[in-house]
Amino acid sequence: MSGTADDRHDGGAPEVPGSAAWLKGRLLEIAAAFSADRVPVTAHEWTDPVRLRDPAPVGHRFLFLLGVDGDGHSSSPGFDDAVNAFAAAGWAVRRRPPGLPGESCATAAHEGFEVRVYEGSGRRLVTFTGWTPVVYTERQLPQPPFTLSTADGVLCDDCQGWGVCLECEGRAYSGGRGGYGRCWCAANNAGPGRCVECRGRGVFTAAEMSWRRRRYGLPDADSGDTAGRTPVEDGHVSSTGALAAVVRRTCACGEFRCFWRNTVVQADERLLSRFVGTCQGCAAQRAYAFTLPPGREAT
Ligand SMILES: [Zn+2]
Ligand SMILES: [Zn+2]
Ligand SMILES: [Zn+2]
Repeated sequence: MSGTADDRHDGGAPEVPGSAAWLKGRLLEIAAAFSADRVPVTAHEWTDPVRLRDPAPVGHRFLFLLGVDGDGHSSSPGFDDAVNAFAAAGWAVRRRPPGLPGESCATAAHEGFEVRVYEGSGRRLVTFTGWTPVVYTERQLPQPPFTLSTADGVLCDDCQGWGVCLECEGRAYSGGRGGYGRCWCAANNAGPGRCVECRGRGVFTAAEMSWRRRRYGLPDADSGDTAGRTPVEDGHVSSTGALAAVVRRTCACGEFRCFWRNTVVQADERLLSRFVGTCQGCAAQRAYAFTLPPGREAT
């Protein structure tokens, strides 16, 4: 079940390794186990390329997003059952503080695999966002602190999220292209070759993210009024259907990666399903809203 690094050199879509197939299988199995009467939906499958100094990726992380429709009733299977199903399958589960009232969040970890378990407010949607360890194609590097989709912020352009100077790869006094002597990076003189741009955090500072948002004509900060300004769309009968559509849309900056959160409320005769998230490319606040048929019992 560990990653099978292939030795292809082309820049095309990476071959799906055994680790990714394993993860997808486990996610589907656990989703089916906690909620026997609902069919889990694979809303999205994608990869995070991992780079060093060159634009060509040195490896990929494989990610899957599964959604299970809830019916809004507190007595029906939901977040707690999902978390228990991961624990029963041998995953180490940690509950996380919820972002908004009514939300639930946890992480489940197992041998380098990680899953974010989430239930939106209104109990209409449970999602699993699962990812593999990074699978390298040639040189076997350590696991990065995070990748495009899993960073709590926007990856630093300079170090691609590694947090270290990529010239010496953070090894003070030992790296450099010749293998000897000090790296040119300023950080190397003072100790570990941390990335100077992000000061070793691997993600942009607030000021840099603000610059990126402005560059794409996006509001500089969250106005707090995304609900009021979001047009309401029709055309979906369930939150998982709407989720599958939302995850394919891109931000004005071109990035699709976003951890989507969901709120479902009763609005007149119908349900209003809102998706909100922070763009992983520029940290803009994104939002979509859909009407769903009333009181639909998931099948
Ligand atoms: Zn950096
Ligand atoms: Zn350096
Ligand atoms: Zn963006």
